[in-house]
Amino acid sequence: MNTAKTIISVKDLVKKYGDFMAVKGISFDVYEGEIFGLLGPNGAGKTTSLEIMETLREKTSGEVLINGLNVDHQQQEIKKIIGVQLQAAGYYPGLSLMELLQLFSGLYNRKVNEMEMLASVGLQDKAKAKHKELSGGQKQRFSIATTLINNPKIIFLDEPTTGLDPQARRNLWDLIREIRDKGTTVVITTHYMDEAENLCDRVGVIESGKIIAMDTPDKLIDNLIASGFERKKEVKKANLEDVFLALTGKEWRDE
Ligand code: ATP
Repeated sequence: MNTAKTIISVKDLVKKYGDFMAVKGISFDVYEGEIFGLLGPNGAGKTTSLEIMETLREKTSGEVLINGLNVDHQQQEIKKIIGVQLQAAGYYPGLSLMELLQLFSGLYNRKVNEMEMLASVGLQDKAKAKHKELSGGQKQRFSIATTLINNPKIIFLDEPTTGLDPQARRNLWDLIREIRDKGTTVVITTHYMDEAENLCDRVGVIESGKIIAMDTPDKLIDNLIASGFERKKEVKKANLEDVFLALTGKEWRDE
């Protein structure tokens, strides 16, 4: 990945809330076309960092460039090339998914094929359904569709699979990979180790506002093993989640 083009550059990013330093001088690059994950426990500073990249939150100091554009004075240009998940509160209860997409594309001043867009996230059968009638996984998939309306170069997803069941999570991972494979760079936050390992091309591990490791999941694991680490207990080749998935099937079945 060394020849990859940097699409996001974060240098010495600091965010203070009053006296409390939530982000303590973190630096990382995101490469074009990858799924980059900020992995860390609750309160580590993931959402704060993400929202600063999205131009939704002011930083205290440091430099953040999004496709070469500076978050300090090029917010409008940045907003045109990024996709951000809208809060569920924006999903007017009386409108169908189709109508919501029409509304949002109007706000972005974009012409989109709503049906194609719903199909791309596996929701073509739900075009006439209202948002509140969707399952958790379907809501997340719809929310991801809304990030794609302006045909962005980069999308930001904040803990996209929190609260979902195993099948819905795997469906969402497939969807996120498809989006990456079509050329969109994806930045996600997660506190799930398995999500980072399965989904992310590279991860930055963040803890108490600092990045404590950054690499591909494979490299992070290999480095640990090379340091002489051994698991105490032998690990089985499958776990209960695999049993459940094998019993119930792995297709788009979180209806
Ligand atoms: P979570 O997964 O729980 O959202 P996170 O890694 O995304 O965690 P942040 O939401 O970025 O973490 O919060 C980092 C720290 O900053 C936390 O200690 C949080 O309490 C604090 N914090 C976040 N937003 C504010 C705010 N608006 N005012 C004061 N403190 C805040």
